[in-house]
Amino acid sequence: MSDQPTPMMAQYLAIRDANPGALLFYRMGDFYEMFFQDAVEASAALDIALTKRGTHMGEPIPMCGVPVHAAESYLLSLIRKGFRVAIAEQMEDPAEAKKRGSKSVVARDVVRLVTPGTLTEETLLEARRHNFLASFANVRDDSALAWVDISTGEFRVMSCPEPRLAPELARHVPRELLAVEGSRLDDIATEAGAALTELSAGSFDSAAGNRRLCALFHVETLEGFGNFSRSELAAMGAIADYLEMTQKGRMPLLRPPVREEMGGAMQIDAATRRNLELTQALSGGREGSLLAAIDRTVTAGGARLLERRISAPSRDLALIHDRQAAVAHLVNDPRLTADLREALTRAPDMDRALSRLALERGGPRDLGAIRAGLTQGGTIAAMLGDDSIRILADAARDLTGHNELIDLLDEALVAEPPLLARDGGFVAPGYDEDLDETRRLRDEGRGVIARMQADFIAETGVTSLKIKHNNVLGYFIETTSTHAERMLAPPLNERFIHRQTTANQIRFTTVELSELETRILNARDRALEIERGIFSRLARAVLDLAPRIGQAARAMAEIDLTAAFADIACGEAWVRPHVDNSRAFEIKGGRHPVVERALKRKGEAFVANDCALTEGTTPAIWLLTGPNMAGKSTFLRQNALIAILAQAGAFVPASHAHIGVVSQLFSRVGAADDLARGRSTFMVEMVETAAILNQADDHALVILDEIGRGTATWDGLSIAWAVMEHLHAKNRCRALFATHYHEMTSLSARLSGVENATVAVREWEGEVIFLHEVIKGAADRSYGVQVARLAGLPLSVVERAKEILHELENGEREGAGKPVALLDDLPLFRANPAPPPAPRAKPSQVENRLRDLNPDMITAREALDLVYELRALI
Ligand code: ADP
Repeated sequence: MSDQPTPMMAQYLAIRDANPGALLFYRMGDFYEMFFQDAVEASAALDIALTKRGTHMGEPIPMCGVPVHAAESYLLSLIRKGFRVAIAEQMEDPAEAKKRGSKSVVARDVVRLVTPGTLTEETLLEARRHNFLASFANVRDDSALAWVDISTGEFRVMSCPEPRLAPELARHVPRELLAVEGSRLDDIATEAGAALTELSAGSFDSAAGNRRLCALFHVETLEGFGNFSRSELAAMGAIADYLEMTQKGRMPLLRPPVREEMGGAMQIDAATRRNLELTQALSGGREGSLLAAIDRTVTAGGARLLERRISAPSRDLALIHDRQAAVAHLVNDPRLTADLREALTRAPDMDRALSRLALERGGPRDLGAIRAGLTQGGTIAAMLGDDSIRILADAARDLTGHNELIDLLDEALVAEPPLLARDGGFVAPGYDEDLDETRRLRDEGRGVIARMQADFIAETGVTSLKIKHNNVLGYFIETTSTHAERMLAPPLNERFIHRQTTANQIRFTTVELSELETRILNARDRALEIERGIFSRLARAVLDLAPRIGQAARAMAEIDLTAAFADIACGEAWVRPHVDNSRAFEIKGGRHPVVERALKRKGEAFVANDCALTEGTTPAIWLLTGPNMAGKSTFLRQNALIAILAQAGAFVPASHAHIGVVSQLFSRVGAADDLARGRSTFMVEMVETAAILNQADDHALVILDEIGRGTATWDGLSIAWAVMEHLHAKNRCRALFATHYHEMTSLSARLSGVENATVAVREWEGEVIFLHEVIKGAADRSYGVQVARLAGLPLSVVERAKEILHELENGEREGAGKPVALLDDLPLFRANPAPPPAPRAKPSQVENRLRDLNPDMITAREALDLVYELRALI
């Protein structure tokens, strides 16, 4: 018999097999239990006790469990550790099952599949960040990426060729990525920090997708939302399918899908995001990132909007100007800004409250959040008055006209509604007569009886009449027998129904009394039931207006972000940048917001610097040299960040800025350690550099910091040199190039539009003092040895290094180096693709020139000249 599973085990196994790939939380009373391998894995992951229960196929069954009331925190740990969890609830009262027979098992079913991309609980989400679920689909040669945040309803899609997938994921940082089985997107997903969920090809069928989406949005055709390609339909359809699968029929409230045009936002790839520490510092946390340094929003929705803006600065000039105008308006009215921000601090997160209500996971507190949010919205709209600034006027419009719902919620809800509807107590007194009466009965049953007794006395004129209670009759009316005649004759006998006669008493009841009795007995249950009914009606009323409430929430976020930009502009002396369609890049007095903030905390001042990457109307490249620690990287990055802020609609940390819209932003740092990906650092650097040279268009802004550092000197120099030439001749974009190869400074003489700049240092009594001031011209020395001394290298080592440096510098002048190594790597980044290798027969001009050469006899400078000569020959 031991290999026959018990009925309960059979049910468990059936449910588990129907939900592969997920841990099964199997509800048993007050616990979610896990069995078999699930129990082994979960107990290890959660550090909870592993026990045994019964046997299966002759083996003891491993088991562990978590209490239902604390399940959320366990769920969070499991999701963070990469598990998916299927939650099987009891679908009936255990008493029901018992009625069917002693062996009968309580019906259970999975009500929800919890995955990283489908969370909605407040405790499981970061308030100030989005929680995106993304989906990538490929139909023939066309691919698309869709993404959704079910906790706010945001739903978007874009056409996305596969090579753009990684950068797009880097922008959205989804928690989970859906792809078709066998997609081989594991690496890309891991890199983006997303859990990969593979679905069968059926989920990505574009025709089925179309149908699912039409059903989801209750429309006959999706044309009203846009003209979607088949891959876009497939990507969105897979999301709809997956939500149905995980939410078990309760669909989240999604806004109609919005198509994002690829050209709409500044393109920023993953490496650039990392280098510039836009939303995350290199150390991994938020602290130290641009986002953390500039985030002055006071609402969660505003913070999420800021992250979106910074992650995808616009390229739409009109939109940028509108946003700037709104910030400028608030900058000029600090009083209004302060008032708005004060009012916003009291506005709760309506987006997330709305999504919980839609998924039937909401409670009275969510209704309260909608009420408070809309009420604050009205106050805020009133503050803005009839503003003529478009962004603010639109926001004010979206925040008004909600009075009916506010009034309804105000009337219906108590001041501070509880989290759960289950225990009642959230409907305000005076809202529902029935409920008020029921509650009165519940709370003061005896008082009602007393009032009723007084009414009966008045009606009958029997002053000794009493209402009493016993277990046999329940509530009854009692008079002494002396009143029998009166009570048993018309008209009283029509109302007072005779129940019992004892030696001295006669007992009656009335319809009202027996009704009252049932009502008293059921008052508690009944009060709860009425409240639940009211909750559903209110939730329905809210959901019916969901699109407008969502709009109000977005308006609030927009105002919060605008006010936050205004606040930082005033506090930190930022200016409104002039943004146009030129290719200008002119910054005066630019600062790095993160470094400046860090220095300020230490009581140090940041040295502002200018940057001009245009010569007339053509883009220019600055070649920046200077010792380590002088501030080269800081200068490079600050200019990239200024471009991002300008196109995000913010003011910028500078005294003047003129920026022609940047289409793509690239930033690379030479030989950053990238052990995590297991590629050689130099290889990574080259792959990333290749991406820039292949992609950057003439409106791009490129920032290269010490490219070529990851290899031997001559290799590195030649690569840096060739990269610079390519940027200048082919990409023709604005670029900042920091290097410690002083040899490269001679390029400015050869290439028009290439300028030398250096970070000034002063030498004083053998020590370097960093001035952090960027000036035109080339650095004369690298001061590496001096910097080493500052770093605390033993004096003997510093002295010896000076001697060696001296020797080397002499040696180089005398031609003792091996500059021929320079030639080895040059073809790597030749601007034109290499022609197929010519047959060996006849030596080429280049080969002849090389053969005639004695490498030991030429200087480094001559070698570089030779590179030019050779290149001209091919
Ligand atoms: P490099 O790239 O030249 O090695 P960094 O840009 O990393 O130098 O700067 C080194 C340090 O110098 C920074 O951490 C910062 O504290 C300081 N620094 C850089 N730029 C400035 C500046 N403009 N004003 C003040 N301090 C600066």
